[in-house]
Amino acid sequence: MNPILVFCEQRDGHLKKAGLEALGEGCRLAGKGGREVIAVLIGSSVDSLAADLAAHGASRILLMEDEVLDHYSPELYTSGLAEAATRVRPVAVLMGATAMGKDLAAKLAARLESALLQDCVALEIEPNGTLVGTRLLYGGKLRAIVRATHPISQVATLRPNVFSPLEPRAVSGVPVERLSVRLDRTRPMTRVREVRGAAEDKRELTEAPIIVAGGRGLRGPEHFKLLEELAKALGAAVGASRAAVDAGWKPHASQVGLTGKTVSPQLYIACGISGAIQHQAGMSSARVIVAINNNPNAPIFNLATYGIVGDLFEVVPLLTEEVKRLKQEDRK
Ligand code: FAD
Repeated sequence: MNPILVFCEQRDGHLKKAGLEALGEGCRLAGKGGREVIAVLIGSSVDSLAADLAAHGASRILLMEDEVLDHYSPELYTSGLAEAATRVRPVAVLMGATAMGKDLAAKLAARLESALLQDCVALEIEPNGTLVGTRLLYGGKLRAIVRATHPISQVATLRPNVFSPLEPRAVSGVPVERLSVRLDRTRPMTRVREVRGAAEDKRELTEAPIIVAGGRGLRGPEHFKLLEELAKALGAAVGASRAAVDAGWKPHASQVGLTGKTVSPQLYIACGISGAIQHQAGMSSARVIVAINNNPNAPIFNLATYGIVGDLFEVVPLLTEEVKRLKQEDRK
C-alpha cells in the first residue's frame, strides 16, 4: 500500500495548526486503507518538533534541516518535498491550505506532474487510490467534487479549521529519518531577507477559532476599537471587508474575501458588512455566522445563522458587556 505523505508546516519553530489538521485527516484516510502516514518537516533546527508529529499520529517522520530552510523558499521546499515524494511514492501528499501550503502544493504538483486538489473541505481515497476532494465554489454556494486522474502522488491542500487534528497521545519509537537533499544554494530565484509580522493583529486570521469582522458600516478606523474590545472578550481575531481595507481603516492582512483571506472559524461575527459575494467567498464556510446590520435586506442575512437587525454602535458594546459578564460568572 502506498503511504500518505503529510507536509507539516512550521513557522519560527512552532507547528502550524493547519499542518496538524492535515496530519489528522491523513491518519483518518490511512486508517480506512491500512496505509502508513509519513510526516515531512522542513526547516532549520526543527528536529524537536518531530515528537509532536509522532504524538499527533505520524507513523514515520522525514526531517529536512538546513539553515537555508529557515524561511520558506518555494524552490528549496519544493525540491525537498519532491525528493520525499519520489522516495516513498505516496498515494497522496497533503498539507494545509495556508498561503505557504497553496503555493508549495501547486509547485509540487507541477514538479511531480500529478493532480492538484486545492483548498478541500472534504477528502476521500477510493479503493483504487484515486483522491476525491470537495471544494467550495462561488462563496460556498456550490460544492464541486473533484477527482484526480492518476492515483499516485496526488497533491491536496486542506482548508484550515475544517479538519480536526488527532488528540495527542504518548507514543515512543516513531522513526525519524533525516532527508539529505542536495540543496543548490545558488539556484533559488527568490530569497527571503526578512519576515515582518502584522504588528497590529496578533492572532493569525486563518487560524483563529473566532473572528469579529467590520465593514464600511463602522464609518471610520477609530470605531474598530469597538470590535477589538469584543474580540478581546471572546479571544477572537479582527477581520475586515475590502471596503474597510480600501478605505485604509485596516491593513490588507485583515481582509476576508475573494481578494483577501479565506477563513473557516467556529464563529464569524460580521458587523456593518453587507455580505457581497466576494466577501462571502472568504467566510461562507464558517460554522456559525452572526450578522449585525441595520438593513434587514442586507445579503449577509441570507447566509447568517443568527441575524441582529440593529445599529452596530449599540449592539456591539452590549455584546461585549454580556460576554464579559458571562465570563465572570463562569469564573465564580
Ligand atoms: P458595504 O457594502 O457598503 O456595506 C456596509 C454595510 O453596513 C451595509 O449593509 C449597511 O447596511 C451596514 N451598516 C451601515 N451602518 C450600520 C450601522 N450603524 N450598524 C449596522 N450596520 C450598518 N470584498 C470583500 O469584503 N473582500 C474581498 O476580498 C473582496 N474582493 C473583491 C474582488 C473583486 C474582483 C471585486 C469586484 C470586489 C471585491 N470585494 C471584496 C468588494 C465587495 O464587492 C464589496 O464592495 C465589499 O465587500 C463591501 O464591503 P462592506 O460590506 O464593508 O461595505
